[in-house]
Amino acid sequence: MGKYKALKAILEQEGYCSGFAEPTPATAAQLNRAHDPAYVEAVFAQTVAPAIVRRIGLPVTEAVARRAAAATGGTIKTAELALDHGLACNTAGGSHHAAWDGGAGFCVFNDVATAAYAMLDQRRASRILVVDLDVHQGDGTAKIFAEEPAVFTFSMHAEKNYPSRKAVSDLDVALPCGTSDEAYLGLLKAILPQLFEQHRPDLVFYIAGVDPHEDDALGRLRLSREGLFARDLYVVETARTHRAALAGVLGGGYGQDEKAIADLHAQLHRAAAQAWATGSTPSPVWNMHPLSI
Ligand SMILES: [Zn+2]
Repeated sequence: MGKYKALKAILEQEGYCSGFAEPTPATAAQLNRAHDPAYVEAVFAQTVAPAIVRRIGLPVTEAVARRAAAATGGTIKTAELALDHGLACNTAGGSHHAAWDGGAGFCVFNDVATAAYAMLDQRRASRILVVDLDVHQGDGTAKIFAEEPAVFTFSMHAEKNYPSRKAVSDLDVALPCGTSDEAYLGLLKAILPQLFEQHRPDLVFYIAGVDPHEDDALGRLRLSREGLFARDLYVVETARTHRAALAGVLGGGYGQDEKAIADLHAQLHRAAAQAWATGSTPSPVWNMHPLSI
């Protein structure tokens, strides 16, 4: 958990942010769009069924519930800022294993799904693309949007990793163990522009998990630090080229050294700042500073 605080310190120290926007926690009404209302109520009352608590992998205490609602509010705010300004990044989020009927894999609420529904409901976005490059499949997001044509879910992940039973995204790319920079980036560059052209999103949620890194405790891929930065920059620039707003969220990153993990997560923000400063297709919405939550 210490990585979030460490990330904030890095971003402040490096001066990438003009300031942090503070979200309000997601409401039950917002969460009920992505989750069974009975589950949402149980989280807030700390009465989640033991079987679901086991699936989540941590006790659903009052503090955990508060944190999950705040992180989800953060992704909603990130989406709003992205639509206002073109680009925004959260310093949390990416709880992609949480599905309609309950959380899983350390994820209590699915922040991206909740934020996507909020933007669709407010008619702020009409076509949404989820680019999930966390090393684990975005199974919760895939299940939530299985019947939702306005949201296209793309997950590129390690084949032999959690969850053992994969869901069906609109596009899944399962990578063999040990995949390294060249093969990974080659595939991404072959796939991503086509997704933008086919789905024509006005809003993109990018789950920039750093667990594909070679030193990650839970990943099984072999991306370098430079490879992850190239990946983040490519996704942000591709969204910009296609004039889609991009909301970036952290996703996973695991290991003993919290500062090292936070430093990898900071690369999303560094890539966003670089793309902002050097983009080749300026548009009026890009005139303000990037904001981070
Ligand atoms: Zn992960």
